[in-house]
Amino acid sequence: MTMTLQTVKFQSSIPHYGGRSYTIPQQCPHCGIVVAPYSLRAAGIDYSKNEEFIFLLHKCKGCEEKFLTTHLLNKNDQTTTFKSIYPPALNMEISEVIMKFSPKFIQIYRQAHTAEIESHTELAAAGYRLALEILVKDFAKLEQPERAEQIRKMPLVDCAQTYFPDLFVLVQRDLAQALGSDYIAYTQDQSDAEFNELKYYLDIFLQNIEMKLKIRGATPPPAPTDQ
Ligand SMILES: [Zn+2]
Repeated sequence: MTMTLQTVKFQSSIPHYGGRSYTIPQQCPHCGIVVAPYSLRAAGIDYSKNEEFIFLLHKCKGCEEKFLTTHLLNKNDQTTTFKSIYPPALNMEISEVIMKFSPKFIQIYRQAHTAEIESHTELAAAGYRLALEILVKDFAKLEQPERAEQIRKMPLVDCAQTYFPDLFVLVQRDLAQALGSDYIAYTQDQSDAEFNELKYYLDIFLQNIEMKLKIRGATPPPAPTDQ
């Protein structure tokens, strides 16, 4: 998965490191929003005779969370190369349409992704499934706001079947099985294949919902009154 980078100019009042251009990931690793962050602090250590390793601390203008990027400065030509970001960036680009539509989904998705990076696979699987459930139900409530309370109580598989008949026609049996597995099933008998399958379906729903929201003109869902 490629990461989209953007060029930012670090605050010029910060000695040595300020005023230079750096490439950093386009999306905040916390909220996923695409925005040029505030520059907070910088530090560096000599890495080799010709290179300095630079740490930059940023603050997201969207969620106000901080994140760190590292860069290698070539002392000869003064160019910088992006090396890494902490916390780790989201491994997929989630569209702005989805971010605006379901901030709760983004929040849980990010937590699941962090768990996955740290090899907490059971926690990640439970998190991705919860994220998927939130997304599917938010969309169902957008379709039928008057049924918000029933939707909230529906099992994920029933909700997906009712509100996404198009997806069920294509991959009915496997999808029902993937969505039907509950939390206990994931924590007791988790295989890599099941985990990848869950992420695959999550991606299918994400793309499907994004497309439908774009068709609808990305109308935000009604404020939940039942939670
Ligand atoms: Zn952010």
